[in-house]
Amino acid sequence: MTSTNSRCPGCGSEIAVGALPYRGYYHASAECWAQYTQVLAAEYQDAVLFGQVHQLSVDAYAVQHAGGQHPDKSVCIHLVGLHLLLERDFKPFQVPARLQALAAEIKEWPHFAQPGRRALLTAKHVAEAASTREHAMRVRDWADQVWNTWEPHHAEVAALAERCFAVEARAGR
Ligand SMILES: [Zn+2]
Repeated sequence: MTSTNSRCPGCGSEIAVGALPYRGYYHASAECWAQYTQVLAAEYQDAVLFGQVHQLSVDAYAVQHAGGQHPDKSVCIHLVGLHLLLERDFKPFQVPARLQALAAEIKEWPHFAQPGRRALLTAKHVAEAASTREHAMRVRDWADQVWNTWEPHHAEVAALAERCFAVEARAGR
């Protein structure tokens, strides 16, 4: 790696410098964020990809960029997203409403310390996929890896997810 690379503080990915400044709250380098916007663009342009893996991409990227200014609320919500998709077999289209219910329900969010180990895969790996099929496969591998690094908090995330089921039960859904 040369000095012309930037290192993402969230996922650790090393990418040649040159992206526009990133001003959001994710713990990400501008270059890593630019890779992520490419992933999103590919998903917005393909209805199948959007339906199958977009939610996973959104949740994996957010969770992999915890730390810094990234609010606990966002980290928690996206962890619950990964839990619903990867542990509970929710369909992607079922997830946003649950996460919104959770966001409205909880006022005090727990702080989960960032995992000690990092996933090797990043948004850059997905952005470099050569086909739609490869993109989808790479998102699944990436999301699995990211979720697995958060293993020390899996039980707490599952407990948080129960809160959104409680909201639904109260609403009689
Ligand atoms: Zn990153």
